[in-house]
Amino acid sequence: MKKNIVIIATGGTIAGESNSKGYDSGVLTVERLLESVPQLSGLAEFEAIQFCNIGSQDMNFSTLQKLVQLIQEKCDRTEIDGVVVIHGTDTMEESTFFCDLVIDTDKPIVFTGSMRPNSSLSADGPLNIYNAVLAASSEQLHGYGVVVCLNGEIHSARTVLKSHTTSVGTFISPVSGVIATIVGNALFCQSKYRRLRSPFIRSQLQDLIPFPRVDIFYGYTAMNEDLIEYSVSQGAKGIILAGMGNGNVNKSVVDCCVRLAAAGICVVRASRVANGPVVRNLEIDDSLCGFVVSGNLSPQKARVLVMIALQTGVSMNEIQKLFYELG
Ligand code: GLU
Repeated sequence: MKKNIVIIATGGTIAGESNSKGYDSGVLTVERLLESVPQLSGLAEFEAIQFCNIGSQDMNFSTLQKLVQLIQEKCDRTEIDGVVVIHGTDTMEESTFFCDLVIDTDKPIVFTGSMRPNSSLSADGPLNIYNAVLAASSEQLHGYGVVVCLNGEIHSARTVLKSHTTSVGTFISPVSGVIATIVGNALFCQSKYRRLRSPFIRSQLQDLIPFPRVDIFYGYTAMNEDLIEYSVSQGAKGIILAGMGNGNVNKSVVDCCVRLAAAGICVVRASRVANGPVVRNLEIDDSLCGFVVSGNLSPQKARVLVMIALQTGVSMNEIQKLFYELG
C-alpha cells in the first residue's frame, strides 16, 4: 500500500527561477514543483502545503516555531507516514537541528532542496524531491530524527554541514558520514545512528516566545573583542566563538569572555574548522574561565541549542551537559 506523505514547501533555490542576472529563490509554488516530478504519484499519496516561499537566508525563529507546530500536528495524525520539507539549503543545518530538538515523533521528517534553480539545465530539485518522498516513506528511517536528503544521500540533522557554495554534492557529515544512500528506488542504510532523546521535545510548541539573542563571532589572527562587548551591550545573552583550531581565540578575547561569563553570559567555544570536536580544557582552561565547549556541534548549531536552552531556563551548569548529550 502507498504511504501518506505530507510535503511542506518553504521556498529556496529549488523554487527559484532565472532572472536577467542569476535567479530569485522562492518563486515557484509547491504545485509547480511537484509537476516536475510526475513519478511521485507512483510512489506515495501526498498532501502538498505551501507554508511560505522564501530564500532560507530569510528564515527566522518565529517562522520556524510555526513550521514545527505544523510538522508536529501532521506527525500526530496516525494516517500520516512521514513529512517532507522543501527548504533552501543555506540555513538547512539550523532549521533541521531546531526541528530535531523539539519535534516528538519516530516518523521520518526529511528536508530537501536543491542547489540549482528549477529553470536551470540539469536541475537537481526534481530528483531530490523524489528521493525525499522515498525516504519519508521508508520504514528504515524510523527513529533517525530529522534528516537532510540531497544528491542521493541522507544525513542526520545533528551532523550535516553545507560544505560547498554551489555544488549539488554540498552536504557532508564530517566524522560520522551519511546515514543512508539512495540508488534508484532502494535505500541503503549505512549507519546504526539513532536519534538522541532531546529534553526539549514539545517544549517550544505552546507559546511563540521570542528567543534570547545569541551571536556568533568568527575567530581570526589578532581578533578584536570590542564587537563581542557591543553585542552583549545590545542584549546578547549568549556568545558563540567560532574559534581557531580547537576553538581557540587570542588572549584579549579570552579575557573579555571570562568577564562576560562571570556576568552570566553563556560563552561557548566552537570552531571555524569543519571537522572534529572542540575539546574542553586543552589550551584554554574552560572550567576556570566559565566556558562551555561545543563538542561536535558547529557554531551555527551551537547557537540554536543555546537559544533553546536559555529560553527554556536551563541553568549554565546544565548547558555543557546538553552539548555532550546532543552534539
Ligand atoms: N539562498 C538560497 C536558499 O537557501 C540558496 C540555497 C539553496 O536553496 O540551495 O534558499
